[in-house]
Amino acid sequence: MTYPTQPKASHFINGTYVEDDAGAPIDVIYPATGEVIAKIHSATRAIIGQALDAARAAQVEWAKMTGTERGRILRRAADIMRERNHDLSVLETWDTGKPYQETSVADATSGADALEYFGGMAATLAGQHIQLGEDWVYTVREPLGVCVGIGAWNYPTQIACWKGAPALACGNAMVFKPSETTPLSALKVAEILVEAGLPAGVYNVVQGLGDVGAALVSDPRVDKVSLTGSVPTGRKVYASAAAGMKHVTMELGGKSPMVIFDDADLDNAVSGAILGNFYSSGQVCSNGTRVFVQKGIREAFLARLTERLGKAVIGDPMDPDTSFGPMVSARQTEIVEGYIAKGVEEGARLVTGGKRLEREGFWLEPTVFADVTDDMTIAREEIFGPVMAVLDFEDETEVMARANDTEFGLAAGVFTRDLARAHRVAAGFEAGTCYINTYNDAPVEAPFGGAKQSGVGRENSAAAIEHYSQLKSVYVRMGDLEAPF
Ligand code: NDP
Repeated sequence: MTYPTQPKASHFINGTYVEDDAGAPIDVIYPATGEVIAKIHSATRAIIGQALDAARAAQVEWAKMTGTERGRILRRAADIMRERNHDLSVLETWDTGKPYQETSVADATSGADALEYFGGMAATLAGQHIQLGEDWVYTVREPLGVCVGIGAWNYPTQIACWKGAPALACGNAMVFKPSETTPLSALKVAEILVEAGLPAGVYNVVQGLGDVGAALVSDPRVDKVSLTGSVPTGRKVYASAAAGMKHVTMELGGKSPMVIFDDADLDNAVSGAILGNFYSSGQVCSNGTRVFVQKGIREAFLARLTERLGKAVIGDPMDPDTSFGPMVSARQTEIVEGYIAKGVEEGARLVTGGKRLEREGFWLEPTVFADVTDDMTIAREEIFGPVMAVLDFEDETEVMARANDTEFGLAAGVFTRDLARAHRVAAGFEAGTCYINTYNDAPVEAPFGGAKQSGVGRENSAAAIEHYSQLKSVYVRMGDLEAPF
């Protein structure tokens, strides 16, 4: 049987689908059932070379176009993505297992936002004029050249666009490698860009595992690498890019704190904890997985949380009523089960969940541990699954020290009705992205990225332009030039 999810070919290079059967086979699996829904091949050396050569050649012409022309194409692509949101969301659900209820509002739509935002910005990119007496310097904002994007499996469409849109707006070309677990939707992004008028070769997609990513990162034809992935992968990719003095953006993992004071609106705080731990079955980098609850409201918080979790609709991800889907893969399910076992072993109190669901596919219950202490494994390591750790605290000074006592620094959140405290706590967080009385909002207008081990650089907003362009300074002398001899 051929599934509608089977792409025309594995890779998208120079404006068209390309296959090379010599590449290692990759089965694409629907996480809700475990069925194989597509078969593709990993990129061979020849495919990688073809993609990079196409990108290099196309970039030169693309950069010569005006920002208005480039932006128009990106905005047209955004419109097409929105028109096809339903089909793209269904595909994203096949690819990731995330419920359609989520993919229909958070994936292609977020990708379209990025294309529209950076499409609008393309025409505004400009240099500066710096007067120096009668002399002057002008700066030119130039593209970097060929950018490599490497994606994680939790938000494949979004990541393909969050990296592609600013890169292309600045006049770069891109070779994007999706996670081998979720290879389908980036191909659609490439197809739509070409349909919107993008010249062939400006945005290419090649498939493969880490070895393909590593080959791209170390290739001398590449000028910039943007990775969304785990901290260990980030270290390897950063080191390899450094050897070639390449620009990098690293969007890595986290173990973010969410601090709930006893004056918080309880239902809002519970909503934040649910969004920051169970959306996408907990497979979100910025999740607030260390939930610090002030002692006075701990039991009320746990009771309300458990009651609300009982309302989760777990089932067919294509059903719009389903609000909680499977894990992305068998491997990720096993990793998370290992963490749950560790939580129990190290003495945390299992409040709810903790088990695999008896059905085909990769299903885990939403899981909450209470009485978690700072030294427990589930409070220190990124789990990347639906496991919330609730920790108690007495006062602000104590909780701030504990919240920041981590190598990660991606995100952090605070729930309180005391505004002065909210801002003080946000100022004290060692994290790139902070939330007050909300959690995990990621609008394209706001910079997104991590501090400490969670990353380098920022995605989205005008800040992303800095990471996909470089400045050239041109000194202009108006008078005669003196020299010592
Ligand atoms: P990985 O780090 O395992 O992989 C990320 C990507 O890098 C994949 O495409 C992977 O290929 C590729 N890769 C692996 N090894 C190398 C290498 N040596 N050189 C180049 N590329 C390589 O992350 P996951 O896919 O498991 O995603 C989960 C992680 O991503 C979590 O830690 C999460 O926190 C983080 N993440 C961060 C986000 C952020 O914006 N900060 C957002 C989303 C996720 P393949 O897997 O196909 O082998």
